[in-house]
Amino acid sequence: MNADAPAGLLLAIDLGALARNWKRLHDLSSPAECAAVVKADAYGIGIERAVPALAEAGCRKFFVAVPEEGERVRAAVADAAVYVLNGFFAEWAGYFRAFSLRPVLNSLKSIEAWAGHCPGAPSVVHVDTGMNRLGLSLHEAVGLSRRPELLAAASLEMLMSHLACADDPGHPLNKTQLTLFREVRGEFPRLPASLANSAGIHLGRDFHLDLVRPGVALYGAAFAQDRAPLEIVATLKARILQIRDAAAGETIGYGATRHILEDTRIAIVSAGYADGYHRMTGSSDKHPGAQAMLRGQRVPILGRVSMDLIAIDVTAIPGASEGDWVELFGPNMPIDEVAAAAGTVGYELLTGLSRRAARHYIGADAS
Ligand SMILES: *Cc1c(COP(=O)(O)O)cnc(C)c1O
Repeated sequence: MNADAPAGLLLAIDLGALARNWKRLHDLSSPAECAAVVKADAYGIGIERAVPALAEAGCRKFFVAVPEEGERVRAAVADAAVYVLNGFFAEWAGYFRAFSLRPVLNSLKSIEAWAGHCPGAPSVVHVDTGMNRLGLSLHEAVGLSRRPELLAAASLEMLMSHLACADDPGHPLNKTQLTLFREVRGEFPRLPASLANSAGIHLGRDFHLDLVRPGVALYGAAFAQDRAPLEIVATLKARILQIRDAAAGETIGYGATRHILEDTRIAIVSAGYADGYHRMTGSSDKHPGAQAMLRGQRVPILGRVSMDLIAIDVTAIPGASEGDWVELFGPNMPIDEVAAAAGTVGYELLTGLSRRAARHYIGADAS
């Protein structure tokens, strides 16, 4: 992609804010170590730029979901530990060795495969404590603790688990998972342990253990907790391509789902679902849809989101002109609010942005 090509849609990324967010989470979690989760192309902002900025801030451990992301992290930082959350198969051994990737092992079978194919290379074991997603059952974990020769061959360096409800501090499953994880940990007295994602960090010291694994909070999405104000990293801005006037009684967009009740000034903007601007942010006569920000005022999305275009109501903004930039999310238009209007979460909006949204880097390491 030519970064200098003219673009009607920009994702502005503040790498300085990213680095400061990591430091803030690091300080909040200390003395626990603070890793960074950079799966899904660093939540859409770009592994190649995010990882050096985080490493420069002091981060030494990176988590990705799949091996290919691990290769990209390795290319960006030669000497950090890179963990692959989605596990390991025996036929991946050469690739893991080539890029010094460390698997998060989720089953006994994969632990045996790692011990057999990559003996002596470090790995992590994931124990499921109540989410029923990846990881060994509690029973399997206890069994594993009784097999010292397998533990040694697999070079386990850490035990981890993942919280299902950390974003709901009052949820009883948080305490239950912590208690179960502590019990399992007791069977592996020499291994460090990791439990907390972004929201888990805010559950308090008990949850920090030896290593925390924030993802979304680094990027300034999903929650703005008072105790650790985090900066917005990503701002999505789209250009007004055309302004038109529509009369009462007309309709807007595909399917004519939105009727105009009084004369309306419409701005057609360069963003659509092919950019990852969620189709469900659109509005109809029955469904209000999301909003955007123009010249300090909120403006509603009118009608369906097209592949490459959306319409917004600028009747209340007399100065709106063709060529203006509209903030679709960012410091003035919270991403989680836009996502909620589409029935989803900021995580999905951010990681779902397509490559067509031109990435524009600012801040400390942007050169
Ligand atoms: C994605 C993920 C994280 C990071 O979660 P956030 O909510 O983005 O902080 C941490 N641990 C595991 C196992 C994950 O899958």
